[in-house]
Amino acid sequence: MDRLTAETKIKELVKRIERHNRLYYEQDRPEISDQEYDQLMRELTELENQFPELASPDSPTQRVGGEPLPFFEKVVHKTPMLSLGNAFGEADIRDFDRRVRQAVGSQAVRYVAELKIDGLAVSLHYENGMFVRGATRGDGSTGEDITQNLKTIRSIPLKLTKPLTLEVRGEAYMPKAAFDKLNREREERGEALFANPRNSAAGSLRQLDPKIAASRQLDTFIYGIGDLQGETVESHSEGLDLLESLGFKVNKERRVFEDVEELLAFIENWTEKRPTLPYEIDGMVIKVDSYSQQEELGFTAKSPRWAVAYKFPAEEAVTVLEGIEVSV
Ligand code: NAD
Repeated sequence: MDRLTAETKIKELVKRIERHNRLYYEQDRPEISDQEYDQLMRELTELENQFPELASPDSPTQRVGGEPLPFFEKVVHKTPMLSLGNAFGEADIRDFDRRVRQAVGSQAVRYVAELKIDGLAVSLHYENGMFVRGATRGDGSTGEDITQNLKTIRSIPLKLTKPLTLEVRGEAYMPKAAFDKLNREREERGEALFANPRNSAAGSLRQLDPKIAASRQLDTFIYGIGDLQGETVESHSEGLDLLESLGFKVNKERRVFEDVEELLAFIENWTEKRPTLPYEIDGMVIKVDSYSQQEELGFTAKSPRWAVAYKFPAEEAVTVLEGIEVSV
């Protein structure tokens, strides 16, 4: 492709992606599937790699999420809430493993594999063990203050088992059963349906009236520490155990791996098993366990180099019509 064609193509892709970002992050009503969106992002990334001089610093490939909505108080995140680099197959996981091992030299590497919950990222602040503030990720540096809505979620402890001051991060989500029930009720009332549990969770938490969030049966899984005072933790897996002991809901399906083949088998297993879960996952997150190795690896503008999000291939929807299988 020549430079001029690439320039036109990049402009067109940026415009399309920005529109889908607004629909997804700000209005909670996407028009395309996540796989279609990921494909657009991949095309843009490839063109920007081919023609680096055409990549603008505010390209969607360099930015996290969407703008916070104006009617919520803003919360500035002490440490940015970033996105994750994507992996779309075994080869991408092997590449990630290679990059990590190259960066840490001769040291042994352990990975933590977790389910990638399809909800929205939230940050929760505790002072002396008491929940004081909760926010969305927003554009990564500034989020929306949704404390009143988060207080309605039963799995978010209002008081921890220890009087610690800390900030934790996790995913707020809507279980599949709650989503089906909500859409059934909306259909009966003639209201617009939510596209998926992720968007209904985001829509519910960005309501000004906390009674709405309270009625939506939302839940959380906490997956990381943003800031911790008065306690030392050496690794991500140790951090997750601490979070659990403090009263947070931490997903039990996490596993530590030293061997990349075993890690790949674990991912493969969840690719098949995921429809059996009562909540939606859109992939697996693989993180380097050791905090000192994480520090060594550092960050790009948009994501940590010590973690990667493996995205599942699109689930083939199969409808059975009077004994004939039709893939749609
Ligand atoms: P991401 O979804 O690829 O990954 C980052 C997020 O994963 C984190 O912010 C966190 O919320 C979440 N997460 C879930 N479980 C986690 C765990 N165990 N550990 C760490 N993080 C965990 O990145 P993103 O920037 O949030 O969103 C980009 C994705 O959103 C796209 O790849 C696409 O799938 C979707 N999207 C879709 C549209 C659309 O129009 N369909 C538009 C924009 C974005």
